Amino acid sequence: MALYNEPSPLETRIVSKRFGLPNSASLDTYLATDGFVAFRKAREMAPEQIIEEVKASSLRGRGGAGFPTGLKWSFVPRTSPKPKYIIVNADESEPGTCKDRLLMEYDPHQLIEGILIASLAVDAHKGYIYIRGEYRYLIDMMDKAIAEAYAKGYLGKNIAGTGWDFDLYTHSGAGAYECGEETALLDSLEGKRGVPRMKPPFPAVAGAWASPTLLNNVETYSAVPYIIREGGKAFADLGTPKNGGTRLVCISGHVNKPGVYELPLGFPMMKAINEVAGGIPHGRKLKAVVPGGSSCPFLRAEECDIPMDYDTLAKLGSMLGSGGMVVMDETTDMVKVALRVMRFYAHESCGWCIPCREGTTWLRKILQRMVDGGGRREDVAMLGELSKNMLGRTFCALGDAAAMPTISIVEKFAEDFEKYIVPEAVLV
Ligand code: SF4
Repeated sequence: MALYNEPSPLETRIVSKRFGLPNSASLDTYLATDGFVAFRKAREMAPEQIIEEVKASSLRGRGGAGFPTGLKWSFVPRTSPKPKYIIVNADESEPGTCKDRLLMEYDPHQLIEGILIASLAVDAHKGYIYIRGEYRYLIDMMDKAIAEAYAKGYLGKNIAGTGWDFDLYTHSGAGAYECGEETALLDSLEGKRGVPRMKPPFPAVAGAWASPTLLNNVETYSAVPYIIREGGKAFADLGTPKNGGTRLVCISGHVNKPGVYELPLGFPMMKAINEVAGGIPHGRKLKAVVPGGSSCPFLRAEECDIPMDYDTLAKLGSMLGSGGMVVMDETTDMVKVALRVMRFYAHESCGWCIPCREGTTWLRKILQRMVDGGGRREDVAMLGELSKNMLGRTFCALGDAAAMPTISIVEKFAEDFEKYIVPEAVLV
């Protein structure tokens, strides 16, 4: 299924520049459009120079956490005698997010080149792309691109005649949201049950098979060829200070033109909704926005007149997350939204720690009871209290991811709960 939409003239197309080209996934198309220029350039650079260029770009992880990429790369001890690994997090599972699939579907060689440049920076010779199980068709597409790269000398021994060796494999997840967490991903990759590891040590030092590991998201690696080819500053200048470059924003929900758009960091949110995504249908008013995937605190309409960058969203108590922006109009029932979100997290909790396992289940049950006609006045406060008790008390970020949107809905959309409060309802 293709999600690629007609480009908007308001986009700045860097990682998506080949989307829509004929045979955009082929190596020939890639080579004809600046492909592997950056890898050859990087091969002439010292590893430290590559990392400095990535730092200069202000690129931050596009998977959700937004950690500075160059800094992360600098943590890998490249002189370690152990093998080093490059891992790609292609477990895109955050509700509302559907952009890494396009990068793999339409431009897999850009991702491969980004991986190879990263391998030069940390002296790694083996890598894995961990793809969520539901993306079965993408695994076939990536395998085809990898086979083509091997056949034409862009993977394997002596890549492009540069003397660099690198082997790349795909690995299928089994459909667990939790395996998007980097250490759970690593356990799953190693064939174990995908639950998070205690940190530290962090993957940079002891990741895959207890070896130094560089782990980034698909979009993060895909931005690297441009950064090396054009320079870190050129990428940084596309965005705002400390929020370099562009990012893919998946705009869905109540908009006329849902799709995946590449916008510079700092792009105005209301302009993205009204001009890039064609506005809200039927002349309805905006009610709420999830700015970066369902784990981000929701914004009320009056909070949305902002530039979309990591720091602005953080000041508002929310996040840019994984780029999954869900737009909700005035007809949206936020209690039903909260229930839908919690059904997802209760299902996806790996069950390891009690606040997450029990908290998500309790929240789901309370919300379900309210929607089914058994809402009590004290339920609203209980939803907020339960969520706050989960916050910061779970082993991985999934507990927070479930709590934060619920807290924001309870606090910002209290009026939506009124109609679900039935005076005679008693606890059953
Ligand atoms: Fe598992 Fe949830 Fe605990 Fe994470 S927070 S380890 S998903 S139970």
